[in-house]
Amino acid sequence: MFLDVTELALQKARIRKSYAPGTLDFHSSEFRQVEPLEVRATAELLDNQIRIYGNLHTRVEMTCARCLDTVVEEISRDFDLYYRPATSLPREDEEARLNLDDTQIAFFEGDGLFLADVLAEQVNLALPMKAICSSDCRGLCPHCGANLNSEDCRCEKSGSDTRMAPLARLKQDWFKKQ
Ligand SMILES: [Zn+2]
Ligand SMILES: [Zn+2]
Repeated sequence: MFLDVTELALQKARIRKSYAPGTLDFHSSEFRQVEPLEVRATAELLDNQIRIYGNLHTRVEMTCARCLDTVVEEISRDFDLYYRPATSLPREDEEARLNLDDTQIAFFEGDGLFLADVLAEQVNLALPMKAICSSDCRGLCPHCGANLNSEDCRCEKSGSDTRMAPLARLKQDWFKKQ
């Protein structure tokens, strides 16, 4: 869906769309959309800026930062965004450019912008920094790479000293400081 400024100047666009997995390009290999992305939004022209506000919802599959298993994360986001025409900014006005970088104002080029690009960006912003499959995920054995959630590797039994080493060192440091 293309949000065209000349059309938005005539009337608001009420958006209710569903994007099946694979139809949006997120420019990311960190996650995979696994459910339709549902969006409800309104787009309008306000002082020559395109304003888009509404919310989106979907689910994505990520990789657990500890055990590398797949984790499904729910993505829900409310947004209220303003896009200025790129021509509103004189190229030679470097100072204005720098100030705008600080405030992170977004721009659209030409006649408008694609809703798909807006949504892809919003999903990227809504992702958790780190996906963890469960708060008590035990991760991978640093020695043999076994997933400790599903198996007890041999390293754990024979080499308890290496597993405890960092903690022991920490305790030593703590005692030294006392
Ligand atoms: Zn995990
Ligand atoms: Zn191991």
